[in-house]
Amino acid sequence: MNDTMIIYCDGHYVGKDDAKISVFNHGFLYGDGVFEGIRSYNNRVFRLKEHIDRIYNSANSILLDIGISRQEMIDIVVETVRRNKLKDAYIRLVVARGDGDLGLDPLKCPKPAIYCIAGSIVLYPEETYTQGLKVQTVSTRRNIPSALNPQIKSLNYLNNIMAKIEANRAGVLEAIMLTQEGYVCECTGDNLFLVKKGVLLTPPPYIGALQGITRNAVIELAQADGIDVREPLMTLYDVYTADECFLTGTAAELIPVIDADGRTIGNGTPGPVFKRLLEKFRGLTQVDGEAYSF
Ligand code: PMP
Repeated sequence: MNDTMIIYCDGHYVGKDDAKISVFNHGFLYGDGVFEGIRSYNNRVFRLKEHIDRIYNSANSILLDIGISRQEMIDIVVETVRRNKLKDAYIRLVVARGDGDLGLDPLKCPKPAIYCIAGSIVLYPEETYTQGLKVQTVSTRRNIPSALNPQIKSLNYLNNIMAKIEANRAGVLEAIMLTQEGYVCECTGDNLFLVKKGVLLTPPPYIGALQGITRNAVIELAQADGIDVREPLMTLYDVYTADECFLTGTAAELIPVIDADGRTIGNGTPGPVFKRLLEKFRGLTQVDGEAYSF
């Protein structure tokens, strides 16, 4: 980590050592808050408007009034990467319910707190992009939308963390999570795609898969390329018998899966549809987004 890192901390740009929060912040005490993981490439914040829309939708869903306009939020993100002089960055934007007392009542938290951190993240080793990833289905089911809708990117990621612990214990880097009914939903921090007979398939958001921003970009790129994209209910059988499988996420971009639960996917190497879409996606990241300079 960069020692001169500058963090937007609840109204002020401060050095890393001064970026501190209170133990009474309900983001800390209860996971009461929302967040976004955003990336900038080549001095452009990729799909920033979409990330800002998603954090406002997450906040609105939990009745958290962010208290500033979307444009002010965009300015905070851009200013944070700019002050850190980062051409390429991984950005974490957090809105917490703010300071309250030890009870969980959000009425005791008069002011939300906004944080923005810009640094770097390396999620998967470089060779996994060329050789592919092994994944394992885990027993932790994705949160049911009627209890806590997974569209809300809340600060409570325990559901995903439980699944990640299972993946760690199984010796793999990502886990397939199913819905309560047993349909394939998504991974702990990535969306899942299959290719079957030239058709691109991905689970529908209503079952609990996040409307990933990378997911949406990949769908647009595929459709522009004439690929048929569908969002059916799918089981593990569909994964095991797919021609290709890959995951998408802001940090991961597109990453190929060559083995699921010990079953080889396709011929066990990253497939042609994955390769084409990764190339198109990387091209898009160079030109699409909120430009900044320093
Ligand atoms: N699913 C989950 C559970 C996630 O946390 C993420 C990362 N935000 C994704 C999918 C991928 O979404 P995005 O492409 O917007 O990063």
